[in-house]
Amino acid sequence: MTDTAHVSTADVARSLFIERFGAEPVGTWSAPGRVNLIGEHTDYNDGFVLPFAIQHRTHVALAPREDGRIRVASTFDDAAVELALDELDGLFPGRRDEVPEWARYPLGVAWALLAASGANPADATGVDLAFASSVPIGAGLSSSAAIEGATAVALAETWGLSLDRVALAQAGRRAENEAVGAPTGIMDQMAALLGRADAAIFLDCRSLETQVVDLGFAQAGLEVVVIDTGVKHSHATGGYGERRAACERGAAALGVPALRDVTVDDLERLAGLVDDVTFRRVRHVVTENERVIETVRTLSEQGPTAIGELLVASHASMRDDFEISVPELDTAVEAALSAGAVGARMTGGGFGGAAIALVARDRVEQVRDAAIAAFSASGFTAPTVFTVVPSAGAGRD
Ligand code: ADP
Ligand code: MG
Repeated sequence: MTDTAHVSTADVARSLFIERFGAEPVGTWSAPGRVNLIGEHTDYNDGFVLPFAIQHRTHVALAPREDGRIRVASTFDDAAVELALDELDGLFPGRRDEVPEWARYPLGVAWALLAASGANPADATGVDLAFASSVPIGAGLSSSAAIEGATAVALAETWGLSLDRVALAQAGRRAENEAVGAPTGIMDQMAALLGRADAAIFLDCRSLETQVVDLGFAQAGLEVVVIDTGVKHSHATGGYGERRAACERGAAALGVPALRDVTVDDLERLAGLVDDVTFRRVRHVVTENERVIETVRTLSEQGPTAIGELLVASHASMRDDFEISVPELDTAVEAALSAGAVGARMTGGGFGGAAIALVARDRVEQVRDAAIAAFSASGFTAPTVFTVVPSAGAGRD
């Protein structure tokens, strides 16, 4: 945990607040990005995921204001966005184009929180919010859930809302789905809100029940290395929606509400019911769900060094069955494994972003060098390689 980096991003948010709004904030709140250890594209299939919060965080400096208006500012944009809180209902979802895309995240959270709490927007205290982040953007580390989580904890406290952490995560998801228009599941927000140091969150995406799972990486001498390919993904466009549709087709063909209800034994029956592509999409989700459960079991029974094969199998399934990898991600995984990583896989929604590798501490440099060399040999832009530490979830700084 880099405490200095943590403090300095909060200071950037505070300085931005003073610069844009000409006053002191009352405090800063923050929420982390996340890495998903295993369980990819299982969330919207009502399945299981195992993310952990990381040390990179988005901080928000906040002060209330008298006039029932909300202003948001970010290091991303020269101009703040301002409107009355009771205008949010008219803005989302239909007129979202009237505000810049980045502003839809925090404004969408404000909108979803007011709706969830039943508060009358006309009675809510106005707020100014200024954001700064150390979470890499679009790298599959969920800077989106970080900004949503930071906004949710800051506003819930300021407005005195009695919503629990799961409700705050749900407001973040609603903002992302309806205010931004990205059809994502709830994993990222749950990790950002519920994360714990040295632990992952085992989440049942159907019941939203969670279990804190000790990782014990530090004790086992392991580091999690992120290899960010720099290839940008987009949730709003491209293959993500197509994958969701394939999963829905598979569930419909088997007559179940979601692929969570399908076991490996059911796959044989499915083969005759759907086309090959749909079949392989379903097989990824069904086997991935089993790998998540198996990873939780292995962590507790054998410790973290034993989960490597599950990570590798997860990557192969995403590459071959779900077809959401890209050559850069495959190269990162192969380079890490050949340099002695315990396991490696792409993480996040796919089509770019980052791979993670579980690596013995004394091999981190070798993995980094191998990834950089392999990218260079393939003519890819050099990756950004760094380590992440399982860290605490959202809160007041
Ligand atoms: P990821 O979550 O993988 O980083 P997404 O596309 O889901 O990628 O979310 C990234 C988007 O979230 C950014 O393009 C921006 O609109 C918004 N965002 C994230 N962090 C911030 C921030 N600190 N300030 C303003 N907008 C942000
Ligand atoms: Mg995101």
